[in-house]
Amino acid sequence: MNKKINILISASILGLLALSLIQGYLINNTYKLKKEAFINDTRRSISRIDDFSPTLDSLSNIWQEDLLTTLTDYKVKTATKTDVINNLQRVIDSINELFKQGYQKELLKNNIPYGIKYHKSVKHIILMDSISNDTIYDYKKMPKAIILGDSIPVKNELYISNTLWETDHLDTREIDGKAVNTSLYLMFHTEDVMDIDGWKTEVFKQMIGLLMLSLLIFCFVFGLLYYSIKNLITQKKIADIKTDFVNNITHELKTPLTTLSLASEMLKNPLVKKDSQHFDATINTIERQNKRLQKLIDQVLSNSLGYKEIKLIKKPVEIEAYLNTVLDDFSLIPYTKNVTLNRVFLAKNKVIKIDKFYITTALLNILENAVKYSNDDCVITFNAEIDSDLKISITDHGIGISEENHKHLFDKFYRVEDKALHDVKGLGLGLYYSNQIVKAHHGTITVKSEKDIKTTFIITLPIN
Ligand code: ADP
Repeated sequence: MNKKINILISASILGLLALSLIQGYLINNTYKLKKEAFINDTRRSISRIDDFSPTLDSLSNIWQEDLLTTLTDYKVKTATKTDVINNLQRVIDSINELFKQGYQKELLKNNIPYGIKYHKSVKHIILMDSISNDTIYDYKKMPKAIILGDSIPVKNELYISNTLWETDHLDTREIDGKAVNTSLYLMFHTEDVMDIDGWKTEVFKQMIGLLMLSLLIFCFVFGLLYYSIKNLITQKKIADIKTDFVNNITHELKTPLTTLSLASEMLKNPLVKKDSQHFDATINTIERQNKRLQKLIDQVLSNSLGYKEIKLIKKPVEIEAYLNTVLDDFSLIPYTKNVTLNRVFLAKNKVIKIDKFYITTALLNILENAVKYSNDDCVITFNAEIDSDLKISITDHGIGISEENHKHLFDKFYRVEDKALHDVKGLGLGLYYSNQIVKAHHGTITVKSEKDIKTTFIITLPIN
């Protein structure tokens, strides 16, 4: 059964883990889709700004016109490649601030709420004619040249678009006093990228409902599983306790029933019938065993009562006198062990209101346990003192109880599982019942014990 529960727990944990992984995978996929959709939407809005803003368009015209002029200079050899690039940079530096301001205005106009950085960079500038191509700028060989916009850390760059601009340009220049027509065939390749401030927060905001729901479902399934497993373990414990109880009571019933059947067989014997002494002894045995059976049944019936079902008839009793009678009666019980009882009373002339019958039962249960769970030489110390309440401690130096069993000692039918205790009979009701009696008196009962050293049960009863 234990093995089955362990398998069930492991399978449930694995199932929960698998479920969490699948859920994680689905959330991750949704995150990717939402991110993609968000970036695409922003990309579309930005492209619209770039395509349709007249302000930005006129600024673009400035550097494009200037570039064409310096490229013509390069063609007629009055400028070098470096001059072309430096000049482009100079023009851009002069208009970039205006561009950035214009861009922010367009963003506001288009109701784009989150901060966006944007820039256009050159990838290639190639001059072509019928004979050969001439590369002025190639981004693979040269540092990235931002034409317009903000600089963006490479890891934050989100791609918008690539633009290829091819144009024919015709210009007339005066060379050596002669007007010469120069034609340019130009390929200009740019790339637009953006950086959306806090896009993760935006996407997360869109997913918050889904995340909360997933978390809620996970907690619900986890809670359900935890509750079911806990319930299962409790049920298993109860089933074990019940099985132990049935075994114990069967064990307890066996001896008187066997003796009774032997005694009644004996009574049938004509020799016993004729021998009145033998006959009477057998009848006495039957009576004793009968009483024992009766006591056992009473014990099961009454000792199973809860504290609310115990009807107390409280009367004032003088503490020391009462405890002395209980201990005197206890000393009269014949035991096979060597029992020494020490009494330490610090409660002279004090009176307490209790139900004597029930408190006596509780005290005798603990005292009898002290003998039952001791070695052959049993020394018990019975201590009573008044400390606003009546405090009774019963200490023995027997087998003791290990720490992990303390919290269960007062449970119904609980017996410590110990191979050494196999032959010590009991139903696991004594301490349960003693606790219920003390509770009915609004008192407490606690245990202090060290395995193989000693055990002390402390009963506290309110004086009033
Ligand atoms: P039982 O009929 O088994 O004695 P109890 O309810 O009286 O039932 O006691 C519960 C368990 O507590 C016992 O089975 C025993 O293991 C443990 N126990 C009780 N008293 C003592 C003691 N004085 N020393 C060691 N163990 C004890």
